[in-house]
Amino acid sequence: MSTGIVWDERYMWWDTRHAAGFIPAGGWVEPDEHVENPRTKRRLKNLLDACELSEQLTWLRPRPATWAELTQVHEVDYVERMKALSDDNGGDAGELVPFGPGGFEIALLAAGGVITAAEAVQTRRVGNAYALTRPPGHHAERARGRGFCMFGNVAIAAHHLRAVHGVDRIAVVDWDVHHGNGTEQAFYSDPGVLTISLHQDRYYPQDSGSAQHTGDGAGAGANINIPLPPGTGAGGYEYAFETVVLPALRRFRPGFVVVASGFDSGALDPLGRQMLHSEAYRQFTRMLMAVADETAGGRLLGVHEGGYSAAYVPFCGLAVFEELSGIRTKVEDPFLDFLSALGGMDLQPHQKDTVDSLRPLVDRVPAP
Ligand SMILES: [Zn+2]
Repeated sequence: MSTGIVWDERYMWWDTRHAAGFIPAGGWVEPDEHVENPRTKRRLKNLLDACELSEQLTWLRPRPATWAELTQVHEVDYVERMKALSDDNGGDAGELVPFGPGGFEIALLAAGGVITAAEAVQTRRVGNAYALTRPPGHHAERARGRGFCMFGNVAIAAHHLRAVHGVDRIAVVDWDVHHGNGTEQAFYSDPGVLTISLHQDRYYPQDSGSAQHTGDGAGAGANINIPLPPGTGAGGYEYAFETVVLPALRRFRPGFVVVASGFDSGALDPLGRQMLHSEAYRQFTRMLMAVADETAGGRLLGVHEGGYSAAYVPFCGLAVFEELSGIRTKVEDPFLDFLSALGGMDLQPHQKDTVDSLRPLVDRVPAP
């Protein structure tokens, strides 16, 4: 079975307006390009085309998410407010989520695109899939947008998988450099969705992502935060996967695995301070595919989140697509030798201490 891809040109038309980095232009801030702009995503898609991997993927046409699907995760009030803002002249969805007129419809198409991909994987139309959607979703909360995200794309798709396809155990592994606070909130008391976020310690949102937040009520133990020290490279992440992520997944035994795939944990990212390279993303994809094979009949879906290095995201993304599809293209990552040799790329003692302290979280994960 082939690998599915969700893509729509309109994703590139989500308008984050003038900013410098992520600070809106105005006052002493000279208007410049917002860091969350179409380039990284478009260049990844272009690389897939250029190396001809595109032709071997199954292209899935996204549909918009419905009002009922959105309100599984978001308050009606919030959804109505976004629609009204979008119909007017755009605005800000909450905290650091600038968007232009018509942004609501594009955000619906992103959430619906993740549902489309999840459905294609679940029904075996494709073996696995990657939703190259925009805007991202993992920071969006029940009643406000945050961190460039309007709606919780992954959370909305997980609800759909459960409600329509009866998938009662879903795992979300978030390797974006920022905490997946929105996905955490959506399932904090829900034992059916295991949420695991690996992120740079106290980065964004700064008041969330603590390892002490492990879920509550019926969902106790089903939320794992792995806050890694800034400067963590492939060795530190690999150790976290082997020590916490994979054992937790094997204990939970998901019927479907979703990766919230942000490439801002890459070494060249202008926002993140972590040091991953394409081989690391390739290896983590391989590891997660192995778990999905064991417990979920191979059902794995990557969903695009952040990643702001226009130069490097395409190579990290290609590595994930190659691994998902089992097709190795002729493309070599031209940055890989340089990045692999960076000081601190291996597991460092303080990173090991951090990860070791999280081992007990594995035993608290609810087993079937
Ligand atoms: Zn991010």
